[in-house]
Amino acid sequence: MQQHILNIIYMLGSVSFIFGIKMLGKPESAKKGNLIAAVGMGIAIIGTIFLYESNGKGLTNYPWIFGGLIVGTVIGTLMAKKVKMTGMPQMVSFFNGMGGACAALISLVEFNHLSHEADFTDAEPTHLIIIFLGLVIGSISFAGSMIAYGKLDEKIKDKTLPLQQVINIGLLLVILGIAGAASFGFFDTPNVLFLILGLSLLYGVLFVMPIGGADMPVVISLLNSFTGVAAAMGGFLYDNKVMLFGGILVGSAGTLLTVVMCKAMNRSLTNVLIGNFGGGSKSTGESKSISGSIREVSISDAAVLMKYSKKVVIVPGYGLAVAQAQHVCHELEQTLEEEGVEVKYAIHPVAGRMPGHMNVLLAESNVSYDKLVEMDDINPEFKTTDVVLIVGANDVVNPAAKTDPSSPIYGMPILSVEDAAHTIVMKRSMKAGYAGIENELFYNPKNRMLFGDAKKTLTELVSELKNI
Ligand code: NDP
Repeated sequence: MQQHILNIIYMLGSVSFIFGIKMLGKPESAKKGNLIAAVGMGIAIIGTIFLYESNGKGLTNYPWIFGGLIVGTVIGTLMAKKVKMTGMPQMVSFFNGMGGACAALISLVEFNHLSHEADFTDAEPTHLIIIFLGLVIGSISFAGSMIAYGKLDEKIKDKTLPLQQVINIGLLLVILGIAGAASFGFFDTPNVLFLILGLSLLYGVLFVMPIGGADMPVVISLLNSFTGVAAAMGGFLYDNKVMLFGGILVGSAGTLLTVVMCKAMNRSLTNVLIGNFGGGSKSTGESKSISGSIREVSISDAAVLMKYSKKVVIVPGYGLAVAQAQHVCHELEQTLEEEGVEVKYAIHPVAGRMPGHMNVLLAESNVSYDKLVEMDDINPEFKTTDVVLIVGANDVVNPAAKTDPSSPIYGMPILSVEDAAHTIVMKRSMKAGYAGIENELFYNPKNRMLFGDAKKTLTELVSELKNI
């Protein structure tokens, strides 16, 4: 009877994940979707704790279970409450790594059970394959996500070893070879588990370490899918439907996102999988230097230019998140519309520091969803745009992606803002963006620089517009 109730709970949990993920597709339903999926996960956990039985016996180690739950809940809640919006990408990477670590720990624990009950070489090869796959994928996801966390937090710099791709492919083949041989009883020492663990952690580090600026979004979504697949392995091991379901959903959502990101970055999925990032370009990692002069614009001149425009397109970037300027940006949009100006937002798929970053940010300030126009749809519109206001964006409007084969972002599709009549770039200095390269757009005769913190400058721009 208990098992039947648990199966119904697992089914409810799985259905809530599907609805939750579906609702995450639109900013207006995303919060509710997140909550529905979290409630589904909550009841699946509670159901397992109180109703799970094996050989007629329920769980007994409640102090450990509740101790872990309390410690995890307190740390997770404090981190989520304390994190600034700019720290969200790092935190998402960190939590993704924790998911991978959990999957790897499940494999370690299950292998431990096997080798204590009998000689592990007597176990079913399929059982061992699942244990090793969970360990390998989970450890790669953990180590890779920790490096991605360090990079997004600007604590770790890109580092490429000589013959990096050969080393990566070689190491991966060695790991798979040892795991495969161990699954079929070719190693008789249980210590092979620690060898696989160590090599997988090393691979996770080496895999993400060389990834340069423009390729980070692809690797982040790939790590996300790894964690899902590793969790699904745990579902196989425990024959736990909800875990299997959740893992498969995360794995496939992450894989789809990887494909979308590859398309957005003009990278081939095969190159991504073998770690040959930027492989489609002839990039040398150093872009050509730019000479010329920049021109600045005052707040009042910028306000006049925009007020007498027919169409203004705002390009949000990472700096908008840093400045927390999304609310005042929405106010600018409303003020311009009151003056009869048509306003749209151009959304680049990798703007910011996590997939969908700009959509989340602008939805938070209640910008209407139909004003957010994706790159492929907005690019033809720039020719008929009077002013493009670039707020804290840099790499996503860098023409070097189209014109400079030596640039690390060469080949990445960008917003063709230079087609508009005027561009205004709002940032604090001439410093580079995430990819660390200069931007020729700043020197374009049609461009004007409006230096300052985005929130402060936008606030001044709005009040100037209201006073003209
Ligand atoms: P960039 O990182 O290229 O540029 C952001 C710009 O914002 C900087 O040049 C900075 O200039 C400016 N800025 C920072 N703070 C402020 C502020 N308070 N006020 C005004 N301006 C500010 O951002 P983009 O969004 O254009 O491009 C995203 C980059 O991040 C791409 O290279 C992408 O590949 C990478 N990336 C994206 C991920 C994703 O999933 N979306 C994940 C990881 C990396 P200044 O200091 O002079 O103010």
